[in-house]
Amino acid sequence: MKKALITGITGQDGSFLAELLLEKGYQVFGFARRESWYRQNCASHLNQRIEVLFGDMSEGVDIASAIQDAKPDEIYNLASQSRPGESWVRSAETLLVNGLGTIRLFEAIRHHCPDSRVYHASSSEMFGQATSATQNEQTPFNPVNPYAAAKVYAHQMTKIYRESYGLFIASGILFNHESERRPLHFVTQKIAYGAACAALQITDSPDLNEMGRPIVENGRLALGNLNIARDWGYAGDFVRSMWMMLQADTPDDYVVGTGKIHTLKDLCDFAYQSVDKDWRESVVSDAALVRPLESGQTLADPTKVRLKLGWEPAICFEEMVEKMVHAQIQRLKTIPIKTC
Ligand code: NAP
Repeated sequence: MKKALITGITGQDGSFLAELLLEKGYQVFGFARRESWYRQNCASHLNQRIEVLFGDMSEGVDIASAIQDAKPDEIYNLASQSRPGESWVRSAETLLVNGLGTIRLFEAIRHHCPDSRVYHASSSEMFGQATSATQNEQTPFNPVNPYAAAKVYAHQMTKIYRESYGLFIASGILFNHESERRPLHFVTQKIAYGAACAALQITDSPDLNEMGRPIVENGRLALGNLNIARDWGYAGDFVRSMWMMLQADTPDDYVVGTGKIHTLKDLCDFAYQSVDKDWRESVVSDAALVRPLESGQTLADPTKVRLKLGWEPAICFEEMVEKMVHAQIQRLKTIPIKTC
């Protein structure tokens, strides 16, 4: 039986990946912060099926112990301070976890488990203010926030460790991927939540935003720049690409995305339409929520991952948005709420 270790097991991708690997017959180890594991998280339902090794990505000793205990055949490094917007106020922590944490992981692998195959989670945010219409593995990086800068550092180190020490480290430059498991502080999930509130006629939502206000207040969902455009796919599809990268003969970098672009306005449109509502009646753009410097329009050119690995997304944008709205409706139905 193959053994896999997933850092970031409590997150969206970690939980989908764990499900996929369990289906494939792997023994799955998750690396998680103790306090995160004992509260509700994306992988709580897998509690009895995986083995959790506790630790923090900012502690080299924790990482080395996990590698030594699990002795995994495959390692998926998904742990990260994963919110680009939040990285402005947590820039040092972002570098510590996303940058140095990755190096500590590679060092532990080099010393204790050099034959294991490693997937590292890079990000399309690394392209930042890209000048080309689409981005592939050759597109230069131009990060515009601390999250993206830390990801560029870690990405470069994957190449350095691969080439200098001969480690099998594959890097997935993943474009945005969402799901019903996205935390509520991500804008996509806020929109799904806003649409669910509209469907259930909730004018003041039970869940709060970063400013401690209801996400939906007086029937209004306040968002930042609605014109930003992204390539959004479904997380369940994207974790499949991670596994495929580690089954290849040689380690490589792959851009993973759908190759289709949508604006936040499109997302609002689909989400509210799916519950027969008009987003223009609920969603407002608030200048206070616009990021200091927004990444530009990014669109994946996924030719390489399609041709070399045969990866294709199975769930389209519309289906993904509907899944998210439906999940929020089901969740809100279980919470006592004030309706108009
Ligand atoms: P996520 O849901 O936010 O999960 C992040 C995970 O990292 C959580 O399990 C979190 O644990 C863990 N983590 C954070 N700080 C940690 C620390 N100091 N020590 C140990 N664990 C820590 O993110 P995701 O969407 O699954 O993304 C997975 C990876 O892909 C991330 O590296 C992200 O940057 C990258 N990525 C994501 C996207 C996307 O659109 N989803 C796109 C490109 C790249 P806690 O529960 O303890 O916080």
